[in-house]
Amino acid sequence: MAFQVENYTQVKIKLEAYKATLVAVSKKKPVEDILQAIENKQFHFGENYVQELVEKNEMLQSKAQWHFIGHLQSNKVKLIAPFVHLIQSVDSFKLLNEINKEANKNNRIIDCLLQVHIASEETKFGFSEEETEAMMLSLELSQLANIRIQGLMGMASFTSDTSIIKKEFSGLKSLFDTCKLMSADPEKFNILSMGMSSDYEIALDCGSSMIRMGSTLFGKRNKI
Ligand SMILES: *Cc1c(COP(=O)(O)O)cnc(C)c1O
Repeated sequence: MAFQVENYTQVKIKLEAYKATLVAVSKKKPVEDILQAIENKQFHFGENYVQELVEKNEMLQSKAQWHFIGHLQSNKVKLIAPFVHLIQSVDSFKLLNEINKEANKNNRIIDCLLQVHIASEETKFGFSEEETEAMMLSLELSQLANIRIQGLMGMASFTSDTSIIKKEFSGLKSLFDTCKLMSADPEKFNILSMGMSSDYEIALDCGSSMIRMGSTLFGKRNKI
């Protein structure tokens, strides 16, 4: 399965109306598919696995802007710190601390999103709403000079009941608005990453500014 140009074009038209950014989730997909996407002027890509991302980055060099969207282990941060564009899946202070340390070593500021657990499933990573607010207000966070919290990321429940998805996304949007007011730099706190292939239209209506889309753009993935 190659890059789905027709789907991409339709999604882009929709996103432009909402001024939202598209991150093409290329996990488990070959570099050839990513190159096709780049030819179509898609430059933001999302990956879930450190090793896979490192290999793809070596092959593509600076052609792509990489978003890390999977669960990130602290001991692997150093592998992506030199080049990652945005780490969307920060789910602990320990991880933030490590990102700050590696960003400092690389002489850069790494942009991050806090991942918030909004779904009913137990398996999804992320902070609770209370933990997110506490993190935004914490003194420790304000002392990390090499990271910038640019917003929030969340995944809705895996369900066909759109009212549940809408409720979860709306909740994340109001948390985002609250956190923006708490941010040290509210103007730069401007990314609300929510919505995937199956629920992106609901996410846009609830105020998403960034969609992470895989299967609609690259075809279905094989199960791991
Ligand atoms: C895989 C993945 C996506 C993309 O999912 P699709 O349903 O293929 O669009 C988005 N976000 C995260 C965090 C993912 O792991």
